[in-house]
Amino acid sequence: MNSAKSLKTDVVIVGSGVAGLYAAMNLPDNLNITIISKGNVTECDSYLAQGGICMLRDDADYDSYFEDTMRAGHYENDPDSVDQMIRQSQDVIKDLISIGTDFERNADGSLDFTKEGAHSNKRILFHEDITGQEITSKLLEAVKKLPNVSIYENVTMIDLITKKSNILGDSSCHGVVCTALPESELSDKYGICDTNDGKKIVFIESFYTILACGGIGGLFDHSTNYPILTGDALAICLKHGIKLENPDYIQIHPTTLYTDHSSLYVEHFDGSKSLRPSTDLLTDRAFLISESVRGEGGILLGSNGERFTDELQPRDVVSSAIFHQMKKEGSKHVWLSMEHIPEDEIRNHFKHIYEHCLEEGYDATKEPIPVVPAQHYFMGGIKVDLNGQTSMRHLFAAGETCCNGVHGRNRLASNSLLESLVWAKKSALLIKEKYDKRVVFSHIPCSENVSDVSLTQVAPEWIDTMTLKVNNKKIVLSEIERMKEYHENHKPKQYITSCTGNYAPSGRRPDPVSA
Ligand SMILES: Cc1cc2nc3c(=O)[nH]c(=O)nc-3n(C[C@H](O)[C@H](O)[C@H](O)COP(=O)(O)OP(=O)(O)OC[C@H]3O[C@@H](n4cnc5c(N)ncnc54)[C@H](O)[C@@H]3O)c2cc1C
Repeated sequence: MNSAKSLKTDVVIVGSGVAGLYAAMNLPDNLNITIISKGNVTECDSYLAQGGICMLRDDADYDSYFEDTMRAGHYENDPDSVDQMIRQSQDVIKDLISIGTDFERNADGSLDFTKEGAHSNKRILFHEDITGQEITSKLLEAVKKLPNVSIYENVTMIDLITKKSNILGDSSCHGVVCTALPESELSDKYGICDTNDGKKIVFIESFYTILACGGIGGLFDHSTNYPILTGDALAICLKHGIKLENPDYIQIHPTTLYTDHSSLYVEHFDGSKSLRPSTDLLTDRAFLISESVRGEGGILLGSNGERFTDELQPRDVVSSAIFHQMKKEGSKHVWLSMEHIPEDEIRNHFKHIYEHCLEEGYDATKEPIPVVPAQHYFMGGIKVDLNGQTSMRHLFAAGETCCNGVHGRNRLASNSLLESLVWAKKSALLIKEKYDKRVVFSHIPCSENVSDVSLTQVAPEWIDTMTLKVNNKKIVLSEIERMKEYHENHKPKQYITSCTGNYAPSGRRPDPVSA
């Protein structure tokens, strides 16, 4: 590798969602940090989060919060991870408030909490129905002020730089290979060669790498996620033998607005049709109708106007009830009625949902809206421990791209922003600790005793980016299928759950992980 031409940094963070940004915020200011994002910085799911973020309100709520998370996860969660997430929640929220994040408050100034499906108590903080945008934009503002952090947009990680240790015999990560736009700062300074779609290959060498690459919705036809989130980190990890866990655990959100892209008309619950007021909001993403709409009283109806399920069950249960109803009726969606939610709450708490529905031709204060399940969240991912460490030395992962065991087989609503933040901070703190120890010996990146630099030249597969994209998609989807089949044939073991004393699968499965 022409290391004279690579960008050298102490820590490279791949991803600028909540996980990437909060990790940067928690790394010490004597480290040089480089963040890259595949699209522009706001093109990430963190900006899309609507409902809110959980926080342990007080000690009295601990058992119930723990049990709700475990129950939603079918008791396949890692109890230590759940415990860590819950116990760290107040600190994380304090940090967010300290950088100006504005959560809804009661008249007396205290924090206001809402409730979502499968939560026994109100423990979710929110900002209107754009909580993710509020949190992520404040994190971005804070990180942009840090002189030791550089952010590069439209830069795509396509591989890891790995080295094999003479002493330990295993490999460690020393940065990333990426593609950058031709006339960008990175390409001008560090571009090694062209890809066949006109970009430049760039090497970023680092002591530590944090993968914060988000979900995998871009691999599916119908998803609430940004289409650029295609699980690149998972494909790259699989190629390097880095362990994944439960890649087949994918959450379908029960309620996204049903949109017939082929028609200029919309059909209403009473059977009438009207012209769609605007096509401006039609994107590749399925528009989410937050869980908290059901939490605040929204009910699901079949075409005959009858309720067919308990709307506050965990997401996977509600999704399968909807699929069942759609199959029974031969319909493409069911209906969500907000008739029990006061009109001013719909207009204020659910302002953006209300406005989006209006733009698509539905007035949620007056009529049910059509909803259908869509791919939404990835519970599986790159296997990490309580500190975000992957199975490769010097490589960390945080946020939706990792599997730390918090969610088990199904995520409890509003736990993912929190989990992303908790693991981002834990990774940053461990890197700080490890780095401090190393500094005693050397401050030069990649100075390990190595026998084999695996990236000695430009690999042909980096140049043909279209084939790389297609192959990466195949690699991830076939791993998902492989693990799905495995799980269908191997039911989880029965354990005694720690908090109820009941028999149930409890804890991460002792599965063979993908590698
Ligand atoms: C519509 C919607 C509503 C949601 N509502 C809630 C909610 O109310 N509460 C809650 O807790 N959670 C919610 N979630 C889930 C939550 O938003 C995500 O789990 C969380 O934001 C993930 O954060 P992240 O930092 O891991 O990933 P993201 O915010 O998605 O960021 C991923 C980053 O990785 C970058 N990236 C990916 N691949 C590459 C690559 N190859 N090279 C370079 N960069 C790359 C992207 O550019 C992006 O910057 C919602 C999700 C969606 C889609």
